[in-house]
Amino acid sequence: MSKTLHASAVFHGVLPEDLITHISAHARDAELLVEETRSGLIVTVPLATVSLEASRATLQVDIDAVDAAALQNIRDYLHYTLDHVAPGLTSGAEWQGDILRNRAPLNFTTATVHGIRRVGPNFLRVELACSDTRRLSAERGMHFSLLLPPDGRMPVWPRLDDNGRTVMPLGADSLHRAAYTFVELDPERERFTFDVFEHEGGRTTTWARTAQRGDLVGISGPGSGGFPPGQNILIAGDETAIPAIRRILQTSAPDRRGHALLEVGTEADICDLSRPDGVDLSWCVRNRGESLWDRLSEAPLPQGPDRFVWVAAEKTVVRNAKARFRQTLRLGLSEGYFAYYWEA
Ligand SMILES: Cc1cc2nc3c(=O)[nH]c(=O)nc-3n(C[C@H](O)[C@H](O)[C@H](O)COP(=O)(O)OP(=O)(O)OC[C@H]3O[C@@H](n4cnc5c(N)ncnc54)[C@H](O)[C@@H]3O)c2cc1C
Repeated sequence: MSKTLHASAVFHGVLPEDLITHISAHARDAELLVEETRSGLIVTVPLATVSLEASRATLQVDIDAVDAAALQNIRDYLHYTLDHVAPGLTSGAEWQGDILRNRAPLNFTTATVHGIRRVGPNFLRVELACSDTRRLSAERGMHFSLLLPPDGRMPVWPRLDDNGRTVMPLGADSLHRAAYTFVELDPERERFTFDVFEHEGGRTTTWARTAQRGDLVGISGPGSGGFPPGQNILIAGDETAIPAIRRILQTSAPDRRGHALLEVGTEADICDLSRPDGVDLSWCVRNRGESLWDRLSEAPLPQGPDRFVWVAAEKTVVRNAKARFRQTLRLGLSEGYFAYYWEA
């Protein structure tokens, strides 16, 4: 894939001595490909490459990306990481190159509620009308962020500032942000659907229970992981991952083999998922005392060289699964995906 867009910046300041080590640790934790150079790092993500060169008082950054959306995403990720490891360093740096400025982010759009209906004891299906549905269905990525404006206020949406950095509204204007998975995208009718797992205390749950036709929301995406490869798979998740697992299984080749493990609260939440004949489906039910981690802690690696392990659930379960499969069972970087979908 050729990387045709470029951006660069020089960050000035007193750099922490362990800056590169810290960035490297962040990137490795996110399972990105990291190559250490004499005074810096090269980080490769699927759609972009970032080169970082540090001296005592400057950090030079060069990014090559396949398109403007990928360039924006990696710059936002870099700013987020730098703000954590070297607070203050990013302010004042001038970005040069293929930078979009003073406009809405490319991956942002708005949508209105078209309808909401119950599709399970604990799931609501939300249908949104969105004139950008064609782009959302054409671009890579199964997921999006739902941005809910504060009750009773005119929404203020994200903007790119004059340095091309995404600025989210703050204070009374801050948006509630939660990630969801597309269920169905219909570019002809300019509508898409997603399923909300209802859980107590959830801002999105409250919103979905009370939203009215025509209510306005923000949509940022698509992004956050695509369809996993692998002829032999182990795929596991809780209710929040059911929409993703359903889509992965539905779109799997008929000769795919393996095991799907799902955790739900009660037997009433068990549902059928269409899947290849060679993929077994097992359910763990919390109120029967069963847990996803108990099953994952004993699950064998999928067979053969063309294998893949995909896990999305609560943070601790995913951490434990990642440690077991990566460290104990030596699963390679390109053979697995571990994402925490929520934190208890
Ligand atoms: C890539 C990705 C895709 C996702 N897809 C979906 C999807 O399609 N459908 C879906 O329902 N969720 C999905 N999730 C999970 C969802 O984003 C989180 O559950 C999120 O916290 C929900 O936001 P909220 O506004 O309801 O709750 P918040 O207001 O963010 O959280 C309020 C409280 O709820 C708790 N909480 C959050 N999730 C749960 C839960 N599952 N069970 C119990 N307590 C919880 C939190 O700990 C917190 O204390 C996805 C997450 C990711 C990262």
